[in-house]
Amino acid sequence: MISKEEYKVLVVEDNPGDYDLVVEYLSEIRNVRYELIHCISLQEVNEILATAHVDVILLDLSLPDSSGIDTLSHVRSLDANLPIVVITGTDNDEIGEQAIQQGAQEYLNKNELSGRMMARVIKYAIKRKQMEEKLEKLAVTDPLTTLYNRRYFFERGWNEFLRARRYQHHLSVIMLDLDFFKHVNDKYGHGGGDTALITVAKLFSKSLRDVDLVARFGGEEFIILIPETDKAGVEIVAQRIRQEIYDTSMEHNGNIFSVSASLGVVLIEDVVGDFETMIHQADMALYQAKENGRNRVETYKTPSTYTKLAKG
Ligand code: GH3
Ligand code: MG
Ligand code: MG
Ligand code: MG
Repeated sequence: MISKEEYKVLVVEDNPGDYDLVVEYLSEIRNVRYELIHCISLQEVNEILATAHVDVILLDLSLPDSSGIDTLSHVRSLDANLPIVVITGTDNDEIGEQAIQQGAQEYLNKNELSGRMMARVIKYAIKRKQMEEKLEKLAVTDPLTTLYNRRYFFERGWNEFLRARRYQHHLSVIMLDLDFFKHVNDKYGHGGGDTALITVAKLFSKSLRDVDLVARFGGEEFIILIPETDKAGVEIVAQRIRQEIYDTSMEHNGNIFSVSASLGVVLIEDVVGDFETMIHQADMALYQAKENGRNRVETYKTPSTYTKLAKG
């Protein structure tokens, strides 16, 4: 049996005649079922999107409470993941092309509507949006662990750093490096090492909240950004992660083994520069954890401590 395609379409059109045309054209399409929701203003779009899921939106830009390309940016700010097809009223396609540049997936000109064209445009607007999202996701994901990658960590990290500084909120970074990982690779092969990385990546979700950000920073290094948590709280989180890793056994090619990790913690109030400095300071604390015997957590203290240590 061929399953019928089905789309929930939000039609935002304040002109009743134009809306009737959309209904008429879409009713010509036999192999697709369109469930239409109709509304006539931005205010209504807001209300509908707050409660209902829709697959695509057909958007007239000239509405009673909004006009032009602003209408598009308003809708995009309500839901950035929604495929948008803009309906343009004039003969010139300039506004349609502008809409695509501003994030719409496609546009339809009212003067040249047809059922088949609308069906095709709706279908490919949805597909194109899915593809865009897939690519966006790939660009920020580490393929081995499926954690966020370093690039995404910096992007979000900088934003959160600036916000925390501005509003004097808690923020901390935990840098984590697996201990003697070369040895793991040597003993269990690169596949064993990879298994360890994947296993450790999965453990983080046990100790972290949704607002925390964890990324693979490099080879066997991970980095975690923790907002809105004080020093005592962050140190508890770091210790819990360390313990989880230490307690977890993994298996590769019949070998059972476990790994340990060293962690460096830094709090925003101890940062003497920008976000890059914060990461550098987390790295210094991590180095200290390695020096002090590994499988442990160290929190960044004042710079003078490190100057003294560096001098021996
Ligand atoms: P330390 O306790 O001082 O951190 O010792 P270490 O052996 O972990 O330190 P080092 O940084 O010298 O070695 C890291 C190793 O991690 C070397 C590298 O081959 C391995 N590695 C990095 N990325 C991957 C990866 O994607 N898969 C595997 N299997 N190994 C990796
Ligand atoms: Mg209108
Ligand atoms: Mg390392
Ligand atoms: Mg290491």
